[in-house]
Amino acid sequence: MSASLRTLLRYAAYPLLVFGSLGVLWVGARFSEAPLGALTSALALASALAVALLELLLPDREGEVSWRTLRTDLLHVLLSGSGVSMLVRALSFGGLAALGALLAQRLGFGLWPSAWPWPVQLALAAVIGELGAYTAHRLMHRYEALWRIHALHHSPPHLYIVASARTHPFNAALVHFSQMAPVVLLGAGPEVIAGFSLLTAVVGLLQHCNADLATEWLNGVFATPDLHRTHHSVVLEESNTNFGNNLIVWDWVFGTRLAGARPAAYGVEGVTWPEGYLAQLTVPFVYARLSAAPPLAAPEPASELATLSG
Ligand SMILES: [Zn+2]
Repeated sequence: MSASLRTLLRYAAYPLLVFGSLGVLWVGARFSEAPLGALTSALALASALAVALLELLLPDREGEVSWRTLRTDLLHVLLSGSGVSMLVRALSFGGLAALGALLAQRLGFGLWPSAWPWPVQLALAAVIGELGAYTAHRLMHRYEALWRIHALHHSPPHLYIVASARTHPFNAALVHFSQMAPVVLLGAGPEVIAGFSLLTAVVGLLQHCNADLATEWLNGVFATPDLHRTHHSVVLEESNTNFGNNLIVWDWVFGTRLAGARPAAYGVEGVTWPEGYLAQLTVPFVYARLSAAPPLAAPEPASELATLSG
């Protein structure tokens, strides 16, 4: 690959995948008969294949993934990721939407600006939903009982596309619900929910991938790979920052954004992680036994975090 093509790919891949997939969804929703769910899943899968190709073309850090780890992470994709989000939707979205409709009826006006253009509604959903995800994520780094269900997501010493789904199902359910519930409750329509789901999937794949992407220019808006790698640092002062899931807006507001750090290593020091999927499901219950070091050092005071942001 020529140097100029490589540079172009490094800069353009992230916005192309994020905005390109959303653009195709928008067109597909209007001009095709395909169900929104199928369209969203197909675009998420196509984005995953594109990100996997980027990892081959532009590898970032050296690291090995055993077949056993890959198999476990693929089970997380299917069960902890897709399975849990489908379950959360089935169990909560109908009730939340009905509650929101009742509230709107009582108030006498709709809570969601459904007449606004779809991209603007999507941006609004991303900002509102991000506050739920940010809060859940930050609390999981703050309280020991919640850290136990989140710790597994920080276990990979090597970040790569499939590791993005390595989360305990409790973690996945909590984050998915926290992020989507406010938007569903306010009455966002199916196309906005589909766009928000696709945005989350594509940004999640990109922020954990092992591709050398130039995304620093997007660090003011998105939770880019550059920022999220800092969040996966073994150094607590670095990992207690950049809690954003899709956007970095609430990290700006609450002073937890840290740009420009280059973590020496990823993971959690002093913990021996089980390798199998079922064994990893027991992590919250046996975390103290797995951890040789103190389970979670005291989080940084807000004032110190603010000085770390940049
Ligand atoms: Zn985290």
